This record gives sequence, structure tokens and C-alpha cells, in this order.
Amino acid sequence: MKIAPSIVSADLTCLENVIEILEKNGIDLYHVDVMDGHFVPNITVGPDFIKNLRKLTELPIESHLMITNPEKYVKRFMEAGSDMITLHSELSSSKDILKNLMDVKRGIAINPSTPAEILNDYYGIVDYVLIMSVNPGFSGQKFIPDVIPKLIRAREIFGEKIEISIDGGINSETVKFVKNYVDIICSASGIFSGNIEENLKKLRLNSIP
Ligand code: ZN
Repeated sequence: MKIAPSIVSADLTCLENVIEILEKNGIDLYHVDVMDGHFVPNITVGPDFIKNLRKLTELPIESHLMITNPEKYVKRFMEAGSDMITLHSELSSSKDILKNLMDVKRGIAINPSTPAEILNDYYGIVDYVLIMSVNPGFSGQKFIPDVIPKLIRAREIFGEKIEISIDGGINSETVKFVKNYVDIICSASGIFSGNIEENLKKLRLNSIP
């Protein structure tokens, strides 16, 4: 199981130190939650943040774009150094954008209220699926257990060809509910609230299937 810290929830005043601790403790990639204050009711970071993060790490960087017009910005996120681009299935433009992306891993995200069947539209197009287990917008929300059947459905649709990622409310307790169904766990407050090193150790221990 890969661990993907949602890095914008870290203390960004000491990003270099945080990265050192994360990588010493064996994280696998960085998940960057990009919010525009329109598609979701919160604002976070843009391509410049990716550019800076790129200078500090060699691990893969995933840009999870929770923005209304991804077609306008996706190229900038790629040029800034993203290795993975995640778009939302709730936007009708996502399919065509993903189809035309080259040289990055392509992912489709699905909100808790969106039916899993929409994922059929992305068969053969994406490298991974990101199942939202909270309504996107803010970190620190409670995990929604109703999304577990969606993890199973996603695997039925895509088989082993793709990776399944879960994003929202994942910590060392809630990871137990999803560990058998996912390949990647994204975690924000589950890693950054309290002691990062201890949180990661517990998360890793409890994520063993
Ligand atoms: Zn995310």
C-alpha cells in the first residue's frame, strides 16, 4: 500500500523539514489538493507550489485538481512538475482532457454523492481512480463509510489494471476499513495533526492487509 500525504495540510513554513521527516519514514508520493474556491468552497495552492515542491523531492507528485476549469490550467500543473493529474468525474470536460494528456499518469476522482457507474466512462483512459471519502473542500472531515462499496465496484470495473486511491478522513483507525480494497491512501490530518513520525508508523502498521 502506498502512502500519499496531502502535503498542503502540512506546516508549510517548514516544508523542507517536513519533507525530510516524511521521506525518512518511507512515504511513496505527494498528494497536492488544489482548490479554487469555486468547484469547492476553499482555496489552496497553484502551479507555483508544485514547482517549489518539485525542487525539494524526487518522489512522484500528484495534482488533485478541484477546480472548475481544469482545461485552462492542466498544462501549467504538468509543466510545474506533476507526475500524476487527477480530475473530477463531476466535470463533463474531464474525459476529453484526460484522453489527451501525455507523459503523466491520469486519474479520475469521484465525490461521495456521485454514483460509481460514471467510472465506466473512463475505462481505458485512466491509470488510477481516486475515491473521495469526504466531500472535498476541507481537511479534518470524518470518513464516510458508505463509499466502501464504491471501492469494490471500481475494482470490478477496472480489474487489476489500475490503482485505487482513497482520499478523505483516512487515519490509523479508518484505514482498517479500506485496507483490503485500495492501493494508495491519501491522508492530511491523519498524518499532520500531532506527531508525523508516530502517525505514519501507526498508519503503516494498520494498513497491512
Ligand atoms: Zn485530494
